[in-house]
Amino acid sequence: MSIRVFHCKSCGHHMRLFGGRCGYCRDRKLLHQRVISYVLAVLIMAAAGIYVWVVTQSDNQIAAPEHQTETVTLFDIVHETLKLN
Ligand SMILES: [Zn+2]
Repeated sequence: MSIRVFHCKSCGHHMRLFGGRCGYCRDRKLLHQRVISYVLAVLIMAAAGIYVWVVTQSDNQIAAPEHQTETVTLFDIVHETLKLN
């Protein structure tokens, strides 16, 4: 059984949720009747949420630099080892 939420604007047929056309008269669906519109809306909202999260994270790092730890690279270890010998 398929989900039929929208009615066709031309013939009033109960259209399936998936697909770009009416299953009865083959007329094109309206934009808000297509699943792709909702998928895109969710993706845009998710991208906006991730963007806000990233911006918030970088703001915290700028506001609290004392939490940053000194990074020790392989070069530092080799340099210290050579100085000792
Ligand atoms: Zn139709």
